[in-house]
Amino acid sequence: MGDVLLTVHNLHVSYGPIRALKGLDLNVKKGEIVALLGANGAGKTTLLQSISGLLQPSDGQIFFKEEEITGKDPASIVKRKVIHVPEHRQVFGTLTVIDNLYLGAYHHYRTTGKRQIEEDLKRVFSLFPILEERKYQLAGTLSGGQQQMLAIARGVMAKPEVLLLDEPTLGLAPIVAKEVLELIRELNQTLGTTVLLIEQNVVSSLKIAHRAYVIAHGAIVKEGLAQELLHDHQVREAYLGQS
Ligand code: ATP
Repeated sequence: MGDVLLTVHNLHVSYGPIRALKGLDLNVKKGEIVALLGANGAGKTTLLQSISGLLQPSDGQIFFKEEEITGKDPASIVKRKVIHVPEHRQVFGTLTVIDNLYLGAYHHYRTTGKRQIEEDLKRVFSLFPILEERKYQLAGTLSGGQQQMLAIARGVMAKPEVLLLDEPTLGLAPIVAKEVLELIRELNQTLGTTVLLIEQNVVSSLKIAHRAYVIAHGAIVKEGLAQELLHDHQVREAYLGQS
């Protein structure tokens, strides 16, 4: 793990009079899983949406590698392979599983070619065998956990350099949530995918992450190695009801 892929510097984002981010700083290095922790309304989703170009910051900068990407449009961020898997899955319910996966590769279809995309599909199916079993099923008929896996797998088809995952286990039964987090770890270990992860389950996310940041009221209030934060008494007090 070395090169910094993503740098956020002094980021300010507002919704009209509501200041959601107030000078936020963080970085994500190649090969890392970085977890973002924080209470409801702390600004986590706002941060991911700003990185992927869905929201315009009023101040501050975002860099991907050496290049400033602040305020660029979402399509050009996707082209740089910064891929956002938003909250609530958002798969195309009336399309089949396999068509959802092909859509993930849409932006690089012309440059990559069909053969490479079929290779990518094979690799995705080896990571997500349930999706291969159900490839001709309509995505809307999958279970919640399977739809979440499909949303992540579609992100993987886009060949991400950085995957931005917003609450991938939201609404899932604990055992399914555990499977989804295990898959994220596997993706990171086998493909080397770099991940910036918002996850409500603090302990589970710290267990798979390398580092973590705690956001409160739109700014970072704590950062460190995931293993250290797992044992930090402030974090335990705030999120686990223990000290
Ligand atoms: P959650 O876990 O609840 O999704 P979060 O940490 O992701 O929380 P954000 O959704 O980024 O937090 O919200 C940050 C702040 O911005 C909150 O005060 C929220 O009420 C406000 N906010 C978010 N979206 C909007 C919007 N579309 N319009 C107005 N205010 C918003």
